[in-house]
Amino acid sequence: MRALITGGAGFIGSHLAENLLKRDWEVNIIDDLSTGTFENIAHLENEKKFSYTIDTIMDIKVMEELVDRADVIYHLAAAVGVQYIIDNPLKALQVNIRGTEIILELANKKKKKALIASTSEIYGKSDKIPFSEKDDRVLGSTHISRWGYSASKAVDEFLALAYYREKRLPVVVVRLFNTVGPRQSGQYGMVIPKFVHQALLNHPLLVYGDGKQSRCFAYVEDVVNGMITLMEHPQAVGEIFNLGSKEPITIEELAKKVKELCQSRSEIIYVPYNQAYEEGFEDMKRRMPDLNKVKKLIGYEPQFNLDDILERVIEYFKT
Ligand code: UDP
Repeated sequence: MRALITGGAGFIGSHLAENLLKRDWEVNIIDDLSTGTFENIAHLENEKKFSYTIDTIMDIKVMEELVDRADVIYHLAAAVGVQYIIDNPLKALQVNIRGTEIILELANKKKKKALIASTSEIYGKSDKIPFSEKDDRVLGSTHISRWGYSASKAVDEFLALAYYREKRLPVVVVRLFNTVGPRQSGQYGMVIPKFVHQALLNHPLLVYGDGKQSRCFAYVEDVVNGMITLMEHPQAVGEIFNLGSKEPITIEELAKKVKELCQSRSEIIYVPYNQAYEEGFEDMKRRMPDLNKVKKLIGYEPQFNLDDILERVIEYFKT
């Protein structure tokens, strides 16, 4: 079997590529290296069943050829990271909307099964705990770039479901919650790689807002295994699934934990949101997935807890 992974040199994409290769799949990735890096896939370069294309998914000719060669498509290429979205609002919308449209259009032409990676940002600033797949979305004003990202991924989901309902294209949509692990960069805003990197350098850890906001962090391997198992399950087709972990921690506690595990002398400094991001920035106080749907269908259960994750991320940054 041959898989095409868009965004395959990204953090999650490169782990997915590695995992599929271990299962003896042929893996081809495409990445424009906007947030992904060649380093993420350098260790796969000599694998016989691995190939890569450095190009944009916005080029239909390039994509047509790649889709032709694949049996299934994992569409992970997207603009991600709260900081990245705020810095590149136009690119985020174009890649997320037009890019996904191209993938679905071509997948449909060739009738290739596709997984569309979506996000927990879909739920917006809803205060419901936990979020389940059919919950309402609560978004703020269009002046705030973060909600443009959320809306763009919602368009992706609408497109995927429309292709499934109208054209019978086999699609699976996964909403990824905070996913972390080695190779994730802190450059685009993600808190764990940022804190670990700063702590190891004894630089200040910047906690945004009052630090009482909480997140549940999932290990990339758990998430990637979930994606692959869903793609293999016939009843996942035409459905949307949350994927992540249910172990919450406040960002303030996270900063303290990272500092301790890194034996760091870093100061913990609180920074108001509008200073950290942009004027009017809105954050969600809590974010936790309801994982019952994915658990029921494929028995999904995260195998790694936060301590396991931090241990691996710290090791990665040290080396
Ligand atoms: N955050 C923080 N300091 C940082 C980066 C992020 O306090 O240096 C906070 C951020 O405001 C959010 C949480 O950590 O409340 C998780 O941020 P991340 O960007 O990793 O994920 P998301 O906001 O998408 O959940």
